[in-house]
Amino acid sequence: MEDTTETDDGLAPSDVDPESHPGARDSDAPLDLDVVAMELAEVTAALERLDAGGYGRCGTCGGAIDDETLGLSPTARSCAAHLWA
Ligand SMILES: [Zn+2]
Repeated sequence: MEDTTETDDGLAPSDVDPESHPGARDSDAPLDLDVVAMELAEVTAALERLDAGGYGRCGTCGGAIDDETLGLSPTARSCAAHLWA
């Protein structure tokens, strides 16, 4: 008496259609190493500015970067007015 339906569940990987799961790729996406390297460079640059005494100063106008901006983006190198300039 053999049960031939045991392995016939139809869930072989090749049968999974990625198009049927919109958005699944985003949540399962691995860390982008380029993005991580960029963030590391930003943190390194911020630490160098901290050493040089320029941390918290806008690189465009030299004004102080407000605490709210630094709170949201500790590595910000521009004040709110020049953040996107
Ligand atoms: Zn500025």
